[in-house]
Amino acid sequence: MAAVEAEALGNPTGSHPPAQRARRLLEDARDEIAALVGRQPGEIVFTSGGTESANLAVFGTLAAPAHASAHADHASGVASVLCSAVEHPAVWEACRAAAQSGPITMHELAVDAGGVVETSALLAGLEPSTTLVAVMLANNETGVIQPVGQVVEAVRSATSMGRVFTDAVQAAPYMDLADATAGADLVALSAHKVGGPVGVGVLAVAPEVELTPLLRGGGQERERRSGTQNVVGAIGMAVALRLAAADRIGAAKEVASRRDTLADGLLAAIPEACRTVPDGVPTLPGHLHLCLRGFEREEVLVALGEEGICVSGGSSCASGALEPSRVLAAMGVPEDAARGAIRFTLGHDTTDADVARAVRLVPDVVARLRQGE
Ligand code: PLP
Repeated sequence: MAAVEAEALGNPTGSHPPAQRARRLLEDARDEIAALVGRQPGEIVFTSGGTESANLAVFGTLAAPAHASAHADHASGVASVLCSAVEHPAVWEACRAAAQSGPITMHELAVDAGGVVETSALLAGLEPSTTLVAVMLANNETGVIQPVGQVVEAVRSATSMGRVFTDAVQAAPYMDLADATAGADLVALSAHKVGGPVGVGVLAVAPEVELTPLLRGGGQERERRSGTQNVVGAIGMAVALRLAAADRIGAAKEVASRRDTLADGLLAAIPEACRTVPDGVPTLPGHLHLCLRGFEREEVLVALGEEGICVSGGSSCASGALEPSRVLAAMGVPEDAARGAIRFTLGHDTTDADVARAVRLVPDVVARLRQGE
């Protein structure tokens, strides 16, 4: 990225040599990303990140003329969106806003106690008018992996019009996306979740999907996303995905092994701690979600932060006030447990020493809090 930035590239839509060079670099990045995620280059739409990709997938498909006319023919005249109850807000809020602003109904797809979409709920919820089914590949809070292949199969068996959208933002560092998202019509990715730069993402759009753009202007990205492309960002994203793919299996094993060591250490030393995701449910290797009964997650996060141990809680609303996690509520986690929910996320650069330090310090911090210190 730094080398290319130093070159003073042109605008990739221009005709002079620096512009042509920028276009070549952009198209090379597109080709590489397409190959890594099992798509054709023409399916790759560069965006500003996961949130924009999700919004483009949701609003772009619901507003597409093909869907509007198909629904006009349909008896109800109303399109429906099926959105899993555990989607990231970028998807869930987009579905909700679409349902509030047009002749669209939103149905939430229930998950089981492991946070996995129930196929029976999906089959029951599918209708001929279903336009979009949104099920993420892996959850950002719990790391739980969804059976996207089964979702695709179920949707295909029930409706010819329904599009499957999967948010693969969290899964990208560890999963083979070509395999895990095969058959999905729309796939969202974000560079910064896979070690790339902030501010660039991709929506992969299958050729048969008609998409209405969110951003209009110069018609870049084959009329699907106007605006001068972020060439340096696209290069960074391609490199990040390449590096992740190069050692996906080895990295996943190592990270999962450290995560399990951390889990064993914390569960043995903290009587109030329990794992939120039941054993046997597939999760991303770096996620460890725990509920600390009797604690408020914010007090735990702050106290751990003071020790240099950076963990996350659930979502907080824009005003900063704490809200219960929609994801945990959908899994049926009781409120008193959900209030003390915290997530440790390990990455490629988390070391054995980091884990040992956390196993040593976290129980002490929790003990101090227990004693009201
Ligand atoms: N989807 C998931 C599952 C995420 O975890 C995130 C970010 O945390 C997003 C979407 C939004 O991506 P971005 O931050 O690139 O807008």
